[in-house]
Amino acid sequence: AVFNFGSINIDHVYSVPHFVQPGETLSSSNYQSILGGKGANQSVALAKASSQVFHVGAIGASDRGFTEQMKEAGVNCDFIRKMSDIASGHAIIQVTPDAENSIILFGGANQTISNEHIVSALAEAKPNDWVLLQNETNAIEKIIEEAHKRNLNIAFNPAPMTASVKQLPLNKLTLLIVNEVEAEQLTGESDVEAIKVSLKSSYPTTKILLTLGKAGVWFVEGGVEEFCAAFKVDAIDTTAAGDTFIGFFLAAYQSNMAIAEALKYACAASALAVMKSGAGPSIPSVDQVTAFLQA
Ligand code: ADP
Repeated sequence: AVFNFGSINIDHVYSVPHFVQPGETLSSSNYQSILGGKGANQSVALAKASSQVFHVGAIGASDRGFTEQMKEAGVNCDFIRKMSDIASGHAIIQVTPDAENSIILFGGANQTISNEHIVSALAEAKPNDWVLLQNETNAIEKIIEEAHKRNLNIAFNPAPMTASVKQLPLNKLTLLIVNEVEAEQLTGESDVEAIKVSLKSSYPTTKILLTLGKAGVWFVEGGVEEFCAAFKVDAIDTTAAGDTFIGFFLAAYQSNMAIAEALKYACAASALAVMKSGAGPSIPSVDQVTAFLQA
């Protein structure tokens, strides 16, 4: 099983002619409120990829049926706590006609994970289980330490990247998952080869997934390096490409699929995700991924 300590956000998405300017009041032509947050997206992707996933996190006074939506996707929500006196995590997202976005994020309930919450969730973990983390909740270091103490596998996707990530005990990770921007910020390098060299020398016992958008992905484990090219598709909306990749890769990896095959499987899932708009609704099913790979 995977214990995903992750964010749950209400994404408020506004269509605007341009980003609002200082002092300007701007009308939006369309508004949607949808389930988001890297944590929730990755839990849904894992569940859709047939992995057993426990989402560990918190939601505030306004739930909007999001816990129900996650359950319907197959996510175990027993460790999601309701915090009635705090705002739910949310994002105010402006989208312009050329599909650029600008985002204000408020952590809210996502920042309330307590030691007791961590320990009670991990009490249910069994040997070989995984703990998955992104950088949208509090207590990241504590969760890594507690998971490490219990000899669990730990996967960390430091998104969004912050300066404090470098101070975390990243050498305790089983798997570090970064996109190109995050990798550049973490290593200070901009060339892909230099990034790989830097990550390998900084975290020699950690497996690394370096996703490169429409170029594809590198997997690095010690001396073993494996590249998988992305599928050539017409991308409409790349939101949750990385979240879909992570969910499907981890599900495949847990089921002992060979690396090359797991990379291809996750690339196929994320290629399908970028062909549809939105986050949650764009995450494909196993059957869709299998059909795409056979086409
Ligand atoms: P993130 O969403 O975290 O920024 P990436 O942009 O690196 O992550 O995308 C993750 C994976 O999704 C890539 O490795 C690739 O397999 C797939 N992907 C992303 N963008 C595209 C695209 N335009 N066409 C096909 N596959 C894509």
